[in-house]
Amino acid sequence: MSANPPEHYSDPFEQSAVYRMARNQLRDAARHLDNIDPGIIARLEVPKRSMMVSVPVRMDDGSTRMFTGYRVQHSITSGASKGGLRYAPSVDLGEVAALAMWMSWKCGIMGLPFGGAKGGIAVDTAQISASEKQRLTRRFTDEILTIIGPRIDVMAPDMGTDEQTMAWIYDTYSMKVGYACPEIVTGKPVELGGCVGRREATGRGVTYCIEMAAEEYKLPLNGATAVVQGYGNVGSVTCEELHKRGVKVIAVGDRYAAVFNPKGLDIPALYRHVYENRDNPLKTVDGFPGGEKLPLADLLTLKCDVLIPAAMERVLTEEIAQKVNCRIIAEGANGPTTMKADTVLNEKGVFIIPDVLCNAGGVTVSYFEWVQDLAQFMWDEDRVNSELRKQMAKAYKRVRAKATEKNISMRTAALVIGVEKVAREKAMRGLYP
Ligand code: NAD
Repeated sequence: MSANPPEHYSDPFEQSAVYRMARNQLRDAARHLDNIDPGIIARLEVPKRSMMVSVPVRMDDGSTRMFTGYRVQHSITSGASKGGLRYAPSVDLGEVAALAMWMSWKCGIMGLPFGGAKGGIAVDTAQISASEKQRLTRRFTDEILTIIGPRIDVMAPDMGTDEQTMAWIYDTYSMKVGYACPEIVTGKPVELGGCVGRREATGRGVTYCIEMAAEEYKLPLNGATAVVQGYGNVGSVTCEELHKRGVKVIAVGDRYAAVFNPKGLDIPALYRHVYENRDNPLKTVDGFPGGEKLPLADLLTLKCDVLIPAAMERVLTEEIAQKVNCRIIAEGANGPTTMKADTVLNEKGVFIIPDVLCNAGGVTVSYFEWVQDLAQFMWDEDRVNSELRKQMAKAYKRVRAKATEKNISMRTAALVIGVEKVAREKAMRGLYP
């Protein structure tokens, strides 16, 4: 905390390494901003509002189990807050607060009229049934009902949640308010007012960024090699898009295992193995016959042209960064690179497309979905994809230009743009009362 807290005050965020990382990135970016009142940066260092709820769930065996859920709204300066909902064992207040802060900068970089938010429940989805997940989701929605709304705070899928989860939230919220309210969430099924191309949007955005970086580095994508960590929404779509462009995806890993094929994995076959195989309830790449098993620890240091962390935060540590052997890192995940690793990678000359830019395709198409639901007028996929490409290219070019102008890394440049937008809006609105 940069303010002066009372002596007995213990900052609940400060204990989290992920939160400290997000806050230190903010401080780093703030150093490059001119004429910003330090009081505004102090306000941006802490989230606007955080809610922690206990969620009781009737389990399939009749017992009751308690879960802990969080919703953190980092900023509501630029509009309703927006951000995903994560179900993972690691979820805690600090992680959710960090992810909410990154969402604020991401919306700023993309010029979206949203503030940043994030939510989560500490749960291992592999350990609960679909009906338990439904009851957990509905009760969590009910517990945080007072702080969400289509003009207040809008959720979307993140790790461990998907279109079905959003459909349950949409239904629960609509039952409470008494009318169908699709604009309460984005990333819902298309049949329920979801946007075509939203599911693929993050991976597509990652791929557009890789295309732009590859062009700059004169790296022909056809025949280039890539390694992907995470084979969920972001990782699987990125693999598919890269595969379509002739990239050889030589290794893919997830929470359980990694597979490797130096000639390039057969991506459509891998997708079938993970997602269309009833004997694979964990949806893992493990056991894929088209490659050999690779120790998980070796995945991120495999030699390749493009490395795509698309699973979770802080996987690229200083030690791993020293062994990383690639030309471009495209951060599909949020916060995959620690600050020390960032320094090592920059010194090694690895070109990093930072998370707040690289994976912003998801929130951009979420914005399109929200706009369509409010207007009750749906777009076709061509329009969604061409708008996404246009917005990603615009943001990439702005970040690239800022990095060159100030002689700073792409990450610092992206954060400077995102933080500056929110900070200037805050300054113009003034401090109430
Ligand atoms: P997902 O739940 O669909 O998939 C997560 C994948 O990561 C799975 O393959 C899982 O096995 C793997 N994984 C989990 N823990 C792991 C570990 N310790 N090591 C290696 N792999 C691990 O999640 P997702 O929606 O694809 O999100 C992935 C990342 O992308 C997260 O950081 C998320 O915040 C970020 N992100 C997602 C979106 C989106 O639209 N879904 C948008 C922006 C950013």
